[in-house]
Amino acid sequence: MKSNQYLPRAVSLGAGAVIATTAASSLAPYALPGHLLATCVMSAGASGMWLANYAIDRVTVRSLRCTAAECTLTVRLRGTDAAESRRWQEAVADHPQHRLPH
Ligand SMILES: [Zn+2]
Repeated sequence: MKSNQYLPRAVSLGAGAVIATTAASSLAPYALPGHLLATCVMSAGASGMWLANYAIDRVTVRSLRCTAAECTLTVRLRGTDAAESRRWQEAVADHPQHRLPH
């Protein structure tokens, strides 16, 4: 994994931590049992992390699909240079075995 590919994961992890902390501080005055507080905080944090990761992927990931009818091959690229992206484009356009849905 390239070093620039760690940044989106770190950002989504940070967003999840911020949301979990916010949820914990919002629920603290209610004196919930520890296991219930932990469940709420972890689920809010995981949801925030997933949402941030999804949003980052929508912006930074490029998908290449095979153009053959009914072929489901898809390649997802992030942080690739022009030469590597071109190689993947050629590989997706001309691969020996098309994935056909059954
Ligand atoms: Zn194909």
